[in-house]
Amino acid sequence: MADRIRPLIAGNWKMNGIGRSISEVEKLGRLLAADPPNADVAIFPPATLLDRLTAAAPRAVATGGQDCHPAASGAFTGDVSAPQLKDAGATFVILGHSERRAGHGETDALVGAKVLAALAVGLAPIVCVGETRAEREGGTFEAIVAGQLAGSVPDEAAGQDFVIAYEPVWAIGTGLTPTSPEIMAMHGMIRDRLTARFGDQGKRVRILYGGSLKPANAREILDLPNVNGGLVGGASLLADDFFAIISAA
Ligand code: PEP
Repeated sequence: MADRIRPLIAGNWKMNGIGRSISEVEKLGRLLAADPPNADVAIFPPATLLDRLTAAAPRAVATGGQDCHPAASGAFTGDVSAPQLKDAGATFVILGHSERRAGHGETDALVGAKVLAALAVGLAPIVCVGETRAEREGGTFEAIVAGQLAGSVPDEAAGQDFVIAYEPVWAIGTGLTPTSPEIMAMHGMIRDRLTARFGDQGKRVRILYGGSLKPANAREILDLPNVNGGLVGGASLLADDFFAIISAA
């Protein structure tokens, strides 16, 4: 039997959190110390908190950025570069989240360029893919996700650490989730495409599920084949809820 892939439970705080929110990470650290996880854990705070949160987080909790610019530095007001994230203590960076694709017009090509920038400084990108409700109902969802995967993950990722997150847009923040067979079908398709493209490495790339993952549904979803962890939004903001999801992995 193949070795189990160690799951990754990633908490995306989005544009939430100020200095006092770090107490939730300290609380999470106490919960994890009392009951060590069978998963890697990472938190993705807003950029304003990244270095403080990295300093306060226990060793078992990695941190990451929520986006990065494809350039290493320059005249890009308001943006954050991969070297800056690395310097602030990040290990990972989320790229191509649907809120960036929809709200900031990010294309697969741009996401791919950001992936290269992240890999260049040794950050592990978590590349998000996922269909809208219209695409699911229209039956094009597999082709959409396969296209995002092909277009957002450059060939240069071969041999480097990267993660895929399948996040159906209609499940994010809505309380809705796909059925278990639907998740299995999509994660199986993503696994097949990764393996066809990256060989043995593709068999080991972590494929996270994201979209209304909660303590109540985490065990069922995280147990599914080819689900190697979760990307958690709302439920990552409170230590108790996030810890319950980590414990389910
Ligand atoms: C997300 O935005 O990555 C996400 C999964 O959000 P939520 O868990 O709140 O649906």
